[in-house]
Amino acid sequence: MSERIFNFSAGPAILPEVVLKRAQEDLWNVENSGIGVCEHSHRGAAFTKIIEQAEARCRELAQIPQEYKILFLTGGASSQFFQIPMNFLKSGETADYVVTGSWSKKAVKEAQAFGEVHIAASTEEDNFSRIPDSSEVSWSENPTYAHFTSNNTIAGTQWAKEPEVAQGVPLICDASSDIFSRPIDVTRYDMIYCGAQKNLGPAGVTLVIIREDLIEKGADNLPTMLQYRTHAKANSLYNTPPTLPIYLMGEVFQWILDLGGLEAMAEKNQKKAQIIYDYLDQSNAFRAVAQEGSRSLMNICFRGPDEETEKDVIAKATENGFSGLKGHRSVGGLRASVYNAFPEAGCQALVDFLKDYENNL
Ligand SMILES: *Cc1c(COP(=O)(O)O)cnc(C)c1O
Repeated sequence: MSERIFNFSAGPAILPEVVLKRAQEDLWNVENSGIGVCEHSHRGAAFTKIIEQAEARCRELAQIPQEYKILFLTGGASSQFFQIPMNFLKSGETADYVVTGSWSKKAVKEAQAFGEVHIAASTEEDNFSRIPDSSEVSWSENPTYAHFTSNNTIAGTQWAKEPEVAQGVPLICDASSDIFSRPIDVTRYDMIYCGAQKNLGPAGVTLVIIREDLIEKGADNLPTMLQYRTHAKANSLYNTPPTLPIYLMGEVFQWILDLGGLEAMAEKNQKKAQIIYDYLDQSNAFRAVAQEGSRSLMNICFRGPDEETEKDVIAKATENGFSGLKGHRSVGGLRASVYNAFPEAGCQALVDFLKDYENNL
C-alpha cells in the first residue's frame, strides 16, 4: 500500500486510519450482505442499522438527552446560516450574534435577510485574534436566539467555554471545526451544528443536534425540506440522506468511543497543540497569531518573518511530506489544522521541520 503523508488540511481533513481501512471493506461488502455500503437502499435493514448506530454513538459520546433530536442533513454548515433564521427569526424580531471570524460574519449576513441582527460582540478590530471577554458581550433585551462560533477555523481562535446567555434564550452554536474535540455540555445549548468534514467525517453530511421544543417553534410555511420538523419526524429519512457520509461519521464516532470518548480526545488534542505552540512561543522566526487565552487547539495559525519566507516554508514543507499548511487565502500566513484524527507524531515532525528551517535561516 502506498505511503500517506502528514495532512494538515483545514477541511476536508484527515480521517482516522482504522476508519478508512474498515470503509474500504465495507464499500465492497458491508456486514456480509454481499452489497457495498453505498449501494444499499436507505430504507433497507442494512442502512437502517447504520443510521441508528450512528445516532446512538453520537448520543453516547456527548450524553445527549432524549429531548434533543440528532439530524443528518445536507447543504453544509453554510446552509444552516440561513436555515436557522428562516425557521426561527420572524420579521421584527432580533437575533444576537457574536462575531469572532469570517464564518460568524457569513452567518450574520444570512440572518439579516430574515430579521434584525444585534451584534453582541465583535473582535474584528483585532483581526479576530481573540475571543471576546464575557464583560464585552452585550446581549439585546429579548433575543429570539443567540448564536456563536465555538472555533474560528480561519483566525485560529476557540472559545474556552460557551458564552453565558439569559435564562430562556436559545443558544445556537456553529461547532463545525471543534465538535467532539473535547467534552461538551449539550444541555447548555438549544442547537449545535457542523459540517462533518473537519472533525467527524467526509464532506456531504451536516450534523444538527437540536432541542425538540425549538424544532416546534420553527415556521411551518417553509418548503418542506427546509423545516427541521420534517427531518426530525422522519429520523433524517424524509428523502435520501447522504448514506456514505453518515456511515463514515458513525465509524468516526465509534473510533472516538474506543479511544475513551471526549475526555480522552481533549487530552490528546491539548497535548498535540501544546507541542506546536510551545515551539512557536520560543521561536525567533515564527509566532502564533491568536492571542493567549483564545488559542485554538484545532487550527494553529502562525506567521513567519515575512511573506517570502512563509512561501518558502510551505514549499519546503511540501517537499518534506507535509500538506495543507497554507493559511486561509483571506488571511495568509501558515496554519496547521490538527483535528481529532491528526496524530501527535505529525505535530512533533512539524516542529522538528520548523526548528531545522529556523536554524538554517
Ligand atoms: C468550514 C466551516 C463552515 C462551512 O462549512 P460548509 O460545510 O463548507 O458549509 C462553517 N463554519 C465553520 C466554523 C467552519 O469551519
